[in-house]
Amino acid sequence: RIAIEFHDVYAAYQGGERPALAGVSFTINAGEHIAIVGPSGAGKSTVAALLLGFILPAAGKITVNGIDLNTLKRADWLRQVAFVPQRPHLFQGTVADNIRMVRPDASLTAVIDAAKAAGAHEFIIRLPKGYDTPVGEGGQGISGGERQRLAVARAFLQDAPLIILDEAARGLDPAAQAAMDAALARLLTGRTAIIIDHRLTTVRQADRIIVLTGGQIAESGTHAELLGQA
Ligand code: ADP
Ligand code: ADP
Repeated sequence: RIAIEFHDVYAAYQGGERPALAGVSFTINAGEHIAIVGPSGAGKSTVAALLLGFILPAAGKITVNGIDLNTLKRADWLRQVAFVPQRPHLFQGTVADNIRMVRPDASLTAVIDAAKAAGAHEFIIRLPKGYDTPVGEGGQGISGGERQRLAVARAFLQDAPLIILDEAARGLDPAAQAAMDAALARLLTGRTAIIIDHRLTTVRQADRIIVLTGGQIAESGTHAELLGQA
């Protein structure tokens, strides 16, 4: 079980005119599901980037179960985090190979089970890299929605205690969103989760919501609290 704490965290990018995060503090208890919402550019993805070690805090501290993230061995920590982006990277090989990438030792059965859990089993033998046009449109690749399911299959296979979703259902049609939400609900069960998503359905399901604007926390609380109903 993973608990996370941000202590007055600042983050900045090369050439950025203002810090992407400016003094952000919050706690995520083990097993909690936190939604992070806010306008484009608010710093939501930067929270994910810090946790994934893509960038380092300019100031402040991030702790994992009380331990400074900086002191953890990167490879060990990254095994504990499953990241589901809207547009995952693809590598040369089949969809099955692309799913297995997160756990090269996984059996074919485990890969297929993960693909099934994410609704990605029907296109497991396709070769998506280099083919932008999906099969349904006369090409050999996978669609954007299939690519998102591939990312969820990776997360199921990784079986990590912390899940970070960054707009994992964005751009899907309503039916595909519903299927994706059902798969994500199973994925998140019993795990700590950070959910970057604008949709009210996800926000309602989260235990707590953090509203970011301009790199700072504008509000946080339960859905009812934020609506003034608590
Ligand atoms: P959000 O996910 O809420 O849309 P981000 O965390 O992506 O916001 O971005 C926060 C701020 O940091 C924005 O001002 C954005 O322009 C800037 N930013 C994000 N990524 C980069 C980058 N790679 N280089 C420079 N600036 C960046
Ligand atoms: P980018 O995000 O810059 O387009 P990626 O490295 O993520 O590049 O893409 C890797 C490969 O995936 C590329 O060869 C690209 O042609 C292919 N690709 C991009 N979008 C899709 C898609 N929706 N379905 C299948 N393949 C795709």
